[in-house]
Amino acid sequence: MPAEVAGAALIDGKELAERIRADVALESAALAARGVTPGLSVVLVGDDPASAVYVGAKEKASREAGMAGETIRLPVDTTQAQLLAIVERLNADPRVHGILVQMPLPRQIDPDTVIRHIRPDKDVDGFHPVNVGKLLIGHTDGFAPCTPAGVQRMLMEYGVETRGAEVVVIGRSTIVGKPMAALLMQPGAGADATVTVCHSRTRDLAAHTRRADILIVAAGRARMVTADMVKPGAVVIDVGMNRIPDATTKSGTRLVGDVDFDGVRRVASLITPVPGGVGPMTIAMLLHNTVRAAARTLDG
Ligand code: NDP
Repeated sequence: MPAEVAGAALIDGKELAERIRADVALESAALAARGVTPGLSVVLVGDDPASAVYVGAKEKASREAGMAGETIRLPVDTTQAQLLAIVERLNADPRVHGILVQMPLPRQIDPDTVIRHIRPDKDVDGFHPVNVGKLLIGHTDGFAPCTPAGVQRMLMEYGVETRGAEVVVIGRSTIVGKPMAALLMQPGAGADATVTVCHSRTRDLAAHTRRADILIVAAGRARMVTADMVKPGAVVIDVGMNRIPDATTKSGTRLVGDVDFDGVRRVASLITPVPGGVGPMTIAMLLHNTVRAAARTLDG
Protein backbone atom coordinates (compact mmCIF):
# COMPACT_ATOMS: atom_id res chain seq x y z
CA MET A 1 0.00 0.00 0.00
CA PRO A 2 1.34 3.46 -0.78
CA ALA A 3 2.08 5.69 2.17
CA GLU A 4 -0.59 8.31 2.69
CA VAL A 5 0.45 11.93 2.33
CA ALA A 6 -1.33 15.05 3.52
CA GLY A 7 -3.82 15.06 0.64
CA ALA A 8 -3.84 16.41 -2.85
CA ALA A 9 -4.41 20.01 -3.85
CA LEU A 10 -7.21 20.47 -6.37
CA ILE A 11 -6.83 21.61 -9.94
CA ASP A 12 -9.73 23.99 -10.46
CA GLY A 13 -10.65 23.46 -14.10
CA LYS A 14 -13.68 25.68 -13.84
CA GLU A 15 -11.70 28.70 -12.68
CA LEU A 16 -8.96 28.13 -15.22
CA ALA A 17 -11.48 27.68 -18.03
CA GLU A 18 -13.16 30.95 -17.05
CA ARG A 19 -9.81 32.74 -17.28
CA ILE A 20 -9.13 31.26 -20.72
CA ARG A 21 -12.61 32.23 -21.87
CA ALA A 22 -12.09 35.79 -20.65
CA ASP A 23 -8.83 35.95 -22.65
CA VAL A 24 -10.63 34.54 -25.68
CA ALA A 25 -13.32 37.22 -25.32
CA LEU A 26 -10.63 39.94 -25.39
CA GLU A 27 -8.97 38.41 -28.45
CA SER A 28 -12.35 38.02 -30.10
CA ALA A 29 -13.14 41.72 -29.53
CA ALA A 30 -9.72 42.73 -30.89
CA LEU A 31 -10.32 40.67 -34.03
CA ALA A 32 -13.82 42.09 -34.42
CA ALA A 33 -12.29 45.59 -34.27
CA ARG A 34 -10.14 44.56 -37.22
CA GLY A 35 -13.22 43.41 -39.12
CA VAL A 36 -13.13 39.69 -38.37
CA THR A 37 -15.63 38.46 -35.79
CA PRO A 38 -14.71 34.85 -34.98
CA GLY A 39 -17.52 32.55 -36.08
CA LEU A 40 -18.19 29.04 -34.79
CA SER A 41 -20.82 26.85 -36.42
CA VAL A 42 -21.98 23.77 -34.56
CA VAL A 43 -23.99 21.05 -36.27
CA LEU A 44 -26.18 18.71 -34.26
CA VAL A 45 -27.92 15.79 -35.94
CA GLY A 46 -30.70 14.08 -34.01
CA ASP A 47 -31.97 14.50 -30.49
CA ASP A 48 -29.50 12.70 -28.26
CA PRO A 49 -30.02 14.47 -24.90
CA ALA A 50 -26.34 14.46 -23.85
CA SER A 51 -25.30 15.90 -27.23
CA ALA A 52 -27.99 18.57 -26.95
CA VAL A 53 -26.56 19.61 -23.57
CA TYR A 54 -22.98 19.78 -24.95
CA VAL A 55 -24.08 21.76 -28.00
CA GLY A 56 -26.10 24.17 -25.87
CA ALA A 57 -23.06 24.77 -23.66
CA LYS A 58 -20.83 25.44 -26.68
CA GLU A 59 -23.38 27.82 -28.16
CA LYS A 60 -23.68 29.77 -24.90
CA ALA A 61 -19.92 29.91 -24.34
CA SER A 62 -19.21 31.16 -27.86
CA ARG A 63 -21.87 33.84 -27.54
CA GLU A 64 -20.44 34.96 -24.19
CA ALA A 65 -17.01 35.21 -25.81
CA GLY A 66 -18.43 37.66 -28.35
CA MET A 67 -18.30 35.23 -31.24
CA ALA A 68 -20.68 34.97 -34.13
CA GLY A 69 -22.01 31.72 -35.42
CA GLU A 70 -24.94 29.43 -35.32
CA THR A 71 -26.10 26.03 -34.20
CA ILE A 72 -27.63 24.02 -37.00
CA ARG A 73 -30.03 21.41 -35.65
CA LEU A 74 -30.92 18.64 -38.10
CA PRO A 75 -33.45 15.83 -37.81
CA VAL A 76 -32.32 12.33 -36.87
CA ASP A 77 -33.10 11.00 -40.38
CA THR A 78 -30.76 13.48 -42.11
CA THR A 79 -28.82 11.71 -44.85
CA GLN A 80 -25.06 11.75 -45.15
CA ALA A 81 -25.36 13.67 -48.44
CA GLN A 82 -27.47 16.35 -46.74
CA LEU A 83 -24.99 16.72 -43.90
CA LEU A 84 -22.04 16.88 -46.31
CA ALA A 85 -23.82 19.61 -48.28
CA ILE A 86 -24.12 21.67 -45.10
CA VAL A 87 -20.45 21.12 -44.28
CA GLU A 88 -19.56 22.26 -47.81
CA ARG A 89 -21.63 25.41 -47.32
CA LEU A 90 -19.87 26.18 -44.03
CA ASN A 91 -16.48 25.42 -45.61
CA ALA A 92 -17.17 28.08 -48.24
CA ASP A 93 -18.60 30.72 -45.88
CA PRO A 94 -15.92 33.30 -44.96
CA ARG A 95 -17.84 34.26 -41.79
CA VAL A 96 -17.38 30.74 -40.44
CA HIS A 97 -13.94 30.11 -38.93
CA GLY A 98 -14.69 26.98 -36.94
CA ILE A 99 -16.93 24.02 -37.80
CA LEU A 100 -17.88 21.39 -35.28
CA VAL A 101 -20.10 18.42 -36.04
CA GLN A 102 -21.27 16.96 -32.74
CA MET A 103 -20.62 13.24 -32.29
CA PRO A 104 -22.07 10.66 -32.16
CA LEU A 105 -23.92 10.77 -35.47
CA PRO A 106 -26.93 8.63 -36.39
CA ARG A 107 -26.15 5.22 -37.88
CA GLN A 108 -26.71 6.18 -41.54
CA ILE A 109 -23.84 8.72 -41.41
CA ASP A 110 -20.17 7.73 -41.38
CA PRO A 111 -18.35 10.06 -38.94
CA ASP A 112 -14.97 9.68 -40.66
CA THR A 113 -16.42 10.76 -44.00
CA VAL A 114 -17.92 13.85 -42.38
CA ILE A 115 -14.71 14.75 -40.54
CA ARG A 116 -12.69 14.41 -43.75
CA HIS A 117 -15.04 16.87 -45.47
CA ILE A 118 -14.41 19.68 -42.98
CA ARG A 119 -11.72 22.07 -44.17
CA PRO A 120 -8.67 21.37 -41.99
CA ASP A 121 -8.22 25.09 -41.30
CA LYS A 122 -11.80 25.21 -39.92
CA ASP A 123 -11.55 21.90 -38.04
CA VAL A 124 -11.38 23.42 -34.55
CA ASP A 125 -12.08 20.00 -32.99
CA GLY A 126 -8.74 18.81 -34.38
CA PHE A 127 -10.10 15.52 -35.73
CA HIS A 128 -9.32 15.90 -39.46
CA PRO A 129 -6.49 13.59 -40.58
CA VAL A 130 -4.42 16.65 -41.60
CA ASN A 131 -4.60 18.04 -38.06
CA VAL A 132 -4.00 14.60 -36.52
CA GLY A 133 -0.91 14.27 -38.72
CA LYS A 134 0.37 17.75 -37.86
CA LEU A 135 0.02 16.99 -34.17
CA LEU A 136 2.04 13.82 -34.50
CA ILE A 137 4.73 15.49 -36.60
CA GLY A 138 4.91 18.36 -34.13
CA HIS A 139 3.74 21.12 -36.47
CA THR A 140 2.03 23.78 -34.42
CA ASP A 141 -0.07 25.29 -37.20
CA GLY A 142 -2.79 22.64 -36.89
CA PHE A 143 -5.47 22.20 -34.23
CA ALA A 144 -5.04 19.80 -31.34
CA PRO A 145 -8.18 18.08 -30.03
CA CYS A 146 -9.72 20.21 -27.28
CA THR A 147 -9.78 17.77 -24.36
CA PRO A 148 -6.12 16.73 -24.42
CA ALA A 149 -5.08 20.30 -25.29
CA GLY A 150 -7.01 21.41 -22.20
CA VAL A 151 -5.22 18.84 -20.04
CA GLN A 152 -1.83 20.03 -21.29
CA ARG A 153 -2.79 23.63 -20.60
CA MET A 154 -3.87 22.66 -17.07
CA LEU A 155 -0.55 21.01 -16.36
CA MET A 156 1.30 24.09 -17.62
CA GLU A 157 -0.85 26.56 -15.68
CA TYR A 158 -0.38 24.60 -12.47
CA GLY A 159 3.39 24.45 -12.98
CA VAL A 160 3.55 20.68 -13.31
CA GLU A 161 6.95 19.71 -14.71
CA THR A 162 6.42 17.46 -17.71
CA ARG A 163 9.99 17.44 -19.00
CA GLY A 164 11.42 13.99 -18.39
CA ALA A 165 8.35 13.03 -16.35
CA GLU A 166 6.88 9.55 -16.52
CA VAL A 167 3.39 10.08 -17.89
CA VAL A 168 0.94 7.19 -18.05
CA VAL A 169 -2.23 7.66 -20.11
CA ILE A 170 -5.06 5.14 -19.68
CA GLY A 171 -7.06 5.09 -22.92
CA ARG A 172 -6.09 5.13 -26.60
CA SER A 173 -9.08 6.79 -28.24
CA THR A 174 -8.65 9.18 -31.14
CA ILE A 175 -10.25 12.04 -29.23
CA VAL A 176 -8.41 11.73 -25.92
CA GLY A 177 -5.78 9.04 -25.32
CA LYS A 178 -3.78 9.10 -28.57
CA PRO A 179 -3.61 12.89 -29.00
CA MET A 180 -2.82 13.24 -25.29
CA ALA A 181 0.21 11.02 -25.74
CA ALA A 182 1.20 12.82 -28.94
CA LEU A 183 1.07 16.23 -27.25
CA LEU A 184 3.12 15.25 -24.22
CA MET A 185 5.82 13.34 -26.10
CA GLN A 186 6.69 16.30 -28.36
CA PRO A 187 9.80 18.31 -27.66
CA GLY A 188 9.10 21.64 -26.01
CA ALA A 189 7.32 23.44 -23.19
CA GLY A 190 4.54 21.53 -21.47
CA ALA A 191 5.78 18.34 -23.08
CA ASP A 192 9.10 16.41 -23.31
CA ALA A 193 7.56 13.62 -21.25
CA THR A 194 8.18 9.88 -21.39
CA VAL A 195 4.72 8.60 -22.23
CA THR A 196 3.20 5.15 -21.75
CA VAL A 197 -0.24 4.50 -23.23
CA CYS A 198 -2.33 1.78 -21.57
CA HIS A 199 -5.60 0.23 -22.77
CA SER A 200 -7.87 -2.70 -22.18
CA ARG A 201 -5.23 -5.17 -23.41
CA THR A 202 -2.50 -3.84 -21.15
CA ARG A 203 -1.03 -6.53 -18.93
CA ASP A 204 -0.79 -5.47 -15.27
CA LEU A 205 -2.18 -1.94 -15.56
CA ALA A 206 -1.28 -1.07 -11.96
CA ALA A 207 2.40 -1.82 -12.57
CA HIS A 208 2.37 1.00 -15.13
CA THR A 209 0.21 3.46 -13.24
CA ARG A 210 2.35 3.13 -10.09
CA ARG A 211 5.35 4.42 -12.07
CA ALA A 212 3.53 7.55 -13.20
CA ASP A 213 4.57 11.01 -12.05
CA ILE A 214 1.53 12.18 -14.03
CA LEU A 215 -1.40 9.80 -14.47
CA ILE A 216 -4.04 10.75 -17.04
CA VAL A 217 -7.14 8.59 -17.05
CA ALA A 218 -9.55 8.48 -20.00
CA ALA A 219 -11.07 5.01 -19.91
CA GLY A 220 -14.77 5.71 -19.32
CA ARG A 221 -14.86 3.29 -16.35
CA ALA A 222 -16.29 4.77 -13.17
CA ARG A 223 -13.71 4.97 -10.37
CA MET A 224 -11.45 2.29 -11.85
CA VAL A 225 -8.25 3.93 -10.60
CA THR A 226 -7.87 3.30 -6.89
CA ALA A 227 -5.34 4.65 -4.39
CA ASP A 228 -3.16 1.53 -4.51
CA MET A 229 -2.57 2.18 -8.26
CA VAL A 230 -1.12 5.65 -7.69
CA LYS A 231 2.42 6.65 -6.75
CA PRO A 232 2.50 8.90 -3.67
CA GLY A 233 2.82 12.51 -4.79
CA ALA A 234 1.65 11.87 -8.35
CA VAL A 235 -0.43 14.35 -10.35
CA VAL A 236 -3.73 12.70 -11.35
CA ILE A 237 -5.87 14.01 -14.20
CA ASP A 238 -9.31 12.44 -14.49
CA VAL A 239 -10.87 12.86 -17.93
CA GLY A 240 -13.64 10.34 -17.31
CA MET A 241 -17.30 11.32 -17.12
CA ASN A 242 -19.58 8.51 -16.00
CA ARG A 243 -23.18 8.66 -14.80
CA ILE A 244 -23.82 6.28 -11.95
CA PRO A 245 -27.08 5.63 -10.07
CA ASP A 246 -27.52 7.75 -6.93
CA ALA A 247 -30.83 7.62 -5.13
CA THR A 248 -29.99 10.75 -3.10
CA THR A 249 -30.08 13.07 -6.14
CA LYS A 250 -33.13 14.44 -7.91
CA SER A 251 -32.15 12.93 -11.25
CA GLY A 252 -31.32 9.59 -9.61
CA THR A 253 -27.80 9.71 -11.07
CA ARG A 254 -24.49 11.35 -10.34
CA LEU A 255 -21.45 12.24 -12.43
CA VAL A 256 -18.18 10.57 -11.41
CA GLY A 257 -14.79 10.27 -13.01
CA ASP A 258 -12.58 7.29 -13.78
CA VAL A 259 -10.66 7.90 -10.57
CA ASP A 260 -11.78 6.98 -7.06
CA PHE A 261 -11.42 10.60 -5.99
CA ASP A 262 -11.78 10.19 -2.21
CA GLY A 263 -9.17 7.44 -2.04
CA VAL A 264 -6.72 8.80 -4.61
CA ARG A 265 -6.68 12.36 -3.27
CA ARG A 266 -5.05 11.02 -0.10
CA VAL A 267 -2.10 9.73 -2.14
CA ALA A 268 -1.73 12.22 -5.01
CA SER A 269 -0.21 15.70 -4.77
CA LEU A 270 -2.53 17.34 -7.29
CA ILE A 271 -5.83 16.05 -8.67
CA THR A 272 -8.72 17.14 -10.88
CA PRO A 273 -12.26 16.76 -9.54
CA VAL A 274 -15.22 15.52 -11.60
CA PRO A 275 -17.16 17.63 -12.32
CA GLY A 276 -15.18 20.89 -12.42
CA GLY A 277 -11.88 19.51 -13.69
CA VAL A 278 -11.14 18.62 -17.30
CA GLY A 279 -14.73 19.11 -18.53
CA PRO A 280 -14.84 22.93 -18.54
CA MET A 281 -11.42 23.07 -20.21
CA THR A 282 -12.70 21.31 -23.33
CA ILE A 283 -15.07 24.13 -24.27
CA ALA A 284 -12.50 26.80 -23.37
CA MET A 285 -10.01 25.20 -25.77
CA LEU A 286 -12.65 24.97 -28.49
CA LEU A 287 -13.16 28.74 -28.26
CA HIS A 288 -9.40 29.24 -28.16
CA ASN A 289 -9.01 27.20 -31.38
CA THR A 290 -11.79 29.18 -33.07
CA VAL A 291 -10.13 32.50 -32.27
CA ARG A 292 -6.86 31.13 -33.67
CA ALA A 293 -8.66 30.06 -36.84
CA ALA A 294 -10.16 33.53 -37.22
CA ALA A 295 -6.82 35.27 -36.53
CA ARG A 296 -5.14 33.24 -39.25
CA THR A 297 -7.46 34.66 -41.88
CA LEU A 298 -5.91 38.07 -41.12
CA ASP A 299 -2.33 36.91 -40.78
CA GLY A 300 -2.45 34.89 -43.99
P1 NDP B 1 -13.38 5.48 -25.47
O1 NDP B 1 -14.40 4.52 -24.98
O2 NDP B 1 -13.31 5.82 -26.90
O3 NDP B 1 -11.93 4.93 -25.05
C1 NDP B 1 -11.69 4.37 -23.80
C2 NDP B 1 -10.29 3.85 -23.75
O4 NDP B 1 -10.05 3.32 -22.45
C3 NDP B 1 -10.03 2.72 -24.75
O5 NDP B 1 -8.76 2.90 -25.35
C4 NDP B 1 -10.06 1.46 -23.89
O6 NDP B 1 -9.20 0.45 -24.34
C5 NDP B 1 -9.55 1.99 -22.56
N1 NDP B 1 -10.06 1.20 -21.45
C6 NDP B 1 -11.35 0.91 -21.17
N2 NDP B 1 -11.42 0.14 -20.06
C7 NDP B 1 -10.15 -0.07 -19.65
C8 NDP B 1 -9.56 -0.80 -18.59
N3 NDP B 1 -10.33 -1.47 -17.71
N4 NDP B 1 -8.23 -0.80 -18.47
C9 NDP B 1 -7.46 -0.11 -19.34
N5 NDP B 1 -7.95 0.59 -20.37
C10 NDP B 1 -9.28 0.60 -20.53
O7 NDP B 1 -13.57 6.77 -24.58
P2 NDP B 1 -13.08 8.29 -24.80
O8 NDP B 1 -11.61 8.34 -24.96
O9 NDP B 1 -13.94 8.94 -25.79
O10 NDP B 1 -13.49 8.91 -23.38
C11 NDP B 1 -12.93 8.42 -22.18
C12 NDP B 1 -13.65 9.05 -21.01
O11 NDP B 1 -13.44 10.44 -21.05
C13 NDP B 1 -15.16 8.85 -21.03
O12 NDP B 1 -15.62 8.75 -19.69
C14 NDP B 1 -15.68 10.13 -21.63
O13 NDP B 1 -16.99 10.43 -21.21
C15 NDP B 1 -14.69 11.11 -21.09
N6 NDP B 1 -14.53 12.31 -21.92
C16 NDP B 1 -14.54 13.50 -21.27
C17 NDP B 1 -14.37 14.66 -21.97
C18 NDP B 1 -14.35 15.94 -21.21
O14 NDP B 1 -14.53 16.98 -21.81
N7 NDP B 1 -14.11 15.90 -19.91
C19 NDP B 1 -14.22 14.68 -23.43
C20 NDP B 1 -14.11 13.37 -24.01
C21 NDP B 1 -14.28 12.23 -23.26
P3 NDP B 1 -9.41 -0.31 -25.78
O15 NDP B 1 -8.93 0.68 -26.80
O16 NDP B 1 -8.54 -1.50 -25.68
O17 NDP B 1 -10.87 -0.60 -25.88
